[in-house]
Amino acid sequence: MNPRTTALRQELARRPLVCDGATGTQLQLQGLAPGACGELWCVEQPDRVQQVHRNYLAAGADLLTTNSFGGTSYVLAGHGAGARVREINVAAARLARAIAGDRAWVLGDVGPFGGMLEPFGDAQHDEVIMAFCEQAAALLEGGADAILIETMSDPVEAALAVAAAKSVGAEFIFATYAFQQSASGYRTMMGTTAAEAVAAAIDAGADAVGANCGTELSLADYEKLTTELVTAAGAMPVIVQPNAGSPKLIDGKIHYATTPADFAATAARFSAAGARIVGGCCGSTPAHIAAMAALLKR
Ligand SMILES: [Zn+2]
Repeated sequence: MNPRTTALRQELARRPLVCDGATGTQLQLQGLAPGACGELWCVEQPDRVQQVHRNYLAAGADLLTTNSFGGTSYVLAGHGAGARVREINVAAARLARAIAGDRAWVLGDVGPFGGMLEPFGDAQHDEVIMAFCEQAAALLEGGADAILIETMSDPVEAALAVAAAKSVGAEFIFATYAFQQSASGYRTMMGTTAAEAVAAAIDAGADAVGANCGTELSLADYEKLTTELVTAAGAMPVIVQPNAGSPKLIDGKIHYATTPADFAATAARFSAAGARIVGGCCGSTPAHIAAMAALLKR
């Protein structure tokens, strides 16, 4: 057992933990062009990536997420970097680990592979598992304390990713899905309910389950969704990482209107509803996480 992972389990049983916020938008503030490969910055602009981690650590985050959301060979191939999975993901984990020290845990971030699995699409299960194994192994090699599988829509893909991470030695795995509003309640893009999503992740071996992102969801929606997730998860810890409100297009720019104070107040309600880990997704900043940490750790 990795002693740091053991300590993470113990701390999680003791108090609510604060995760960090958005990475992509923070890198764009430092000059990353929209649509460019942010993961490549782990090797090309390591100081800027570490500045994001440093800002979230200073904000009070207990968990730092590596800059590796699009770090599978499938996504990196779209940027001509499909053969650099190990290099980029090892670097991503090392950068975060060096900032975290003994003050925070590092979550090796794994996003969707970007395609559709058979039978809906043409991606073979075996090949997708291999891609997730390759990424998760590199994140662990670089010093990630746990793996965070996030923004999932397909419970089958989430289960493959969880199983892959487990098979390469991850000792703690978070799995979160992006939900949206539908006529029949909160569902992922694939039509999966919170209960189905949670069950698939737990069956595959996840240690914590929940929701992140969810472009159309308001923070009030997230509060109701948290209750659904907590009910479905039973004894399993629930993690929620909402966007800073629903994005609006103003003058051609995406704008997230929720203030840090409002974000923090809502996060405190998620915690009261049973969420054990709260953080932020798109539009959340170190100021949002700082307000949240101040309220939750009071
Ligand atoms: Zn997001």
